[in-house]
Amino acid sequence: MRRLEGKNVLVTGSSSGIGRAIAIRFGHEGANVVINYRKDAEKAEETERLAREAGKSIKSLIIQADVSREEDVVEMFNKILGEWGTLDILVNNAGIQKLSASHETKVEDFDKVIAVNLRGTFLCSREAIKHFLARRYGGVIINNSSVHEIIPWPGYLSYAASKSGISSLTKTLALEYADKGIRVNAVAPGAIITPVNRAWVEDPRRRAEVESRIPLGRAGTPEEMAAVFAFLASDDASYITGQTILACGGLTLYPEFRKPWSG
Ligand code: NAD
Repeated sequence: MRRLEGKNVLVTGSSSGIGRAIAIRFGHEGANVVINYRKDAEKAEETERLAREAGKSIKSLIIQADVSREEDVVEMFNKILGEWGTLDILVNNAGIQKLSASHETKVEDFDKVIAVNLRGTFLCSREAIKHFLARRYGGVIINNSSVHEIIPWPGYLSYAASKSGISSLTKTLALEYADKGIRVNAVAPGAIITPVNRAWVEDPRRRAEVESRIPLGRAGTPEEMAAVFAFLASDDASYITGQTILACGGLTLYPEFRKPWSG
């Protein structure tokens, strides 16, 4: 089923991981995809090849831009609209995380994570919404959040705070622009097999330890996340806005309560 036939989609940070899977899945659904990357042009080209293979007759563009930089984002939107005239769907996927005890975190590291994850999501959303308003028939925004928008994460203060911020941004933009035909939602992945998790994914003992904490008993795949983004982007989700879908294998269900503590 090609639910996104002919739609123009921008996926930020789609040279790897979940973003790459989203670009491929959206291509498979018939969408024309813009692959944004920050550093790795070769990996972006690989994403493009795979998306075109999945989508057969789709169009694609590759654009280098750092989503935390206003001038990069504005230029990226100018290029997309210059080439294709219109954009229908924005996926704010680009994200980073940095580990350090909160009391030892350097201000520049804190700012960097907030700048990519939260400011980047704001900047791309702002440019997309300007365009959606100008063309007068709305559009769709989907943000890649995390279970850490609700689960505290010691050692990753800036990341958890940025994802909570994305939750608020999602709901606020959804409410602000609902009457303009703009839907804004988010997906909150749990533990997913991507490069960012290489350390535990490639170590069988650590992976078993992580997976023992997940009610469904395993880590998720980028393709499983992409399926949720595709649903939210499609008209199957036409009456859904301001929501976060927790795609986390049950990680947010208080797994410690699987067995009664008393009685
Ligand atoms: P990843 O590192 O493979 O993907 C992140 C992408 O963002 C990379 O392609 C990277 O180049 C890009 N990026 C980083 N900074 C950028 C910038 N300034 N401008 C443009 N692009 C930039 O990791 P992933 O796991 O695929 O992460 C994708 C998203 O999913 C992130 O927002 C992450 O927080 C979220 N997420 C991942 C998991 C997980 O378990 N993997 C869980 C929850 C949420």
